[in-house]
Amino acid sequence: MAVESIRRFLDEKLEPEIRAHGECFIERPLMQKWTSELAAFGHISAPHREEWGGLDMGWLTHLLIFEEIAYSSLDVAIPGFINAVGAELIRRSASPEIQQRYLPGLVAGELFVSMGISEPDVGSDVAAVRTRAIRDGDYWVINGEKTWITSGAYSDLLICTCRTGEKEISHILVDRAESPYEVRDIEKMALNGQSTAQIFLTDCRVPASNMLGQPGDGLRNTLKVFEIARCHMAMWSIGIARRALDEAIAYSKERSQHGRKLAGHQLIADKLATMATRIDAARLLAHRAISLVDADVRAEAECAMAKWYATEMAIGVTRDALQIHGGNGVTREFIVERLVREAIICPIPDGTTEIQKLIVSRALTGVAAFR
Ligand SMILES: Cc1cc2nc3c(=O)[nH]c(=O)nc-3n(C[C@H](O)[C@H](O)[C@H](O)COP(=O)(O)OP(=O)(O)OC[C@H]3O[C@@H](n4cnc5c(N)ncnc54)[C@H](O)[C@@H]3O)c2cc1C
Repeated sequence: MAVESIRRFLDEKLEPEIRAHGECFIERPLMQKWTSELAAFGHISAPHREEWGGLDMGWLTHLLIFEEIAYSSLDVAIPGFINAVGAELIRRSASPEIQQRYLPGLVAGELFVSMGISEPDVGSDVAAVRTRAIRDGDYWVINGEKTWITSGAYSDLLICTCRTGEKEISHILVDRAESPYEVRDIEKMALNGQSTAQIFLTDCRVPASNMLGQPGDGLRNTLKVFEIARCHMAMWSIGIARRALDEAIAYSKERSQHGRKLAGHQLIADKLATMATRIDAARLLAHRAISLVDADVRAEAECAMAKWYATEMAIGVTRDALQIHGGNGVTREFIVERLVREAIICPIPDGTTEIQKLIVSRALTGVAAFR
């Protein structure tokens, strides 16, 4: 029911509005309007508790809803995904006062949060974070630069991963209104409707009570929410791959060459069958992984498998969809061109394909390739 009602809302109302807006940057008021409309259908809210305005329906339901939004627009799906994951980190580790203050707004899509881990010299090696927070009385003073931060331009809140001691990585929640930071957007090959940004923290003073968990909890907390985030990355790939397949099916039934519909040519039929099978395989991996998360079972390797397989799958499937469109596929008139550009980004955030494979192989052999 949740999937059917959000599909109807997207088809009849939201997607036409998003298409009319085009691929250009979605300013915050509009992104907030769309995100909170989607939250009423379970986006962000599905996995969170009723006391915060959530629906208490679990992460699997959220993935199903998220697939539908990704099918229509990744740009609009992404800020809510970050909110859902950021809210989970706050739920797990913040004080009751912080939870009370921020969770209802985040779950309703009225506030936006960003997760700031990456830095110019810190990507795959998360443990190398350099941004530093130094205690000064009742405050932390943060200095450093974050990059590639999703929702950065929209963010009311930044969950800043920073070093609070030589071997101590912690999370500090930075409220932008109280503790301002500078944001500069980054232009990319796709997904420019939403924000990916650099964030500069210069003597940024944050109340000591904004520490999430204990000093030194940062890495452990990050790894736990990475499991959830990676399942969502799998799902965003599945959403765009399924859209590409639907577009390819429609086109192959419409266009004729050599006296028959494209769909009737065996090499095209092979492509369509392979695309559909790979999408389903990816979806089953993602559903298994998130079901383990819902059951509170450690699922690092299963989430890593789902993430790498689905994101690489999306590149192949969108590329085949474009090929089936022939010359039309490379024009802006057909959506597959955009899907190909979006798909190529998928294997990078939340741990690249190479890193996911190292996680899977570590689970298989017990031998770690990195710390
Ligand atoms: C659209 C987008 C959104 C993002 N959103 C966020 C966000 O919200 N918050 C955030 O903190 N970050 C975010 N990121 C950053 C993302 O998590 C990093 O880009 C990613 O972890 C890779 O880091 P890097 O780009 O520095 O690449 P590097 O770590 O420099 O890696 C470069 C290449 O080397 C490979 N490599 C690295 N180490 C190894 C190894 N040990 N063995 C084999 N190969 C290796 C990588 O797989 C990659 O192919 C985002 C990135 C993108 C593109």
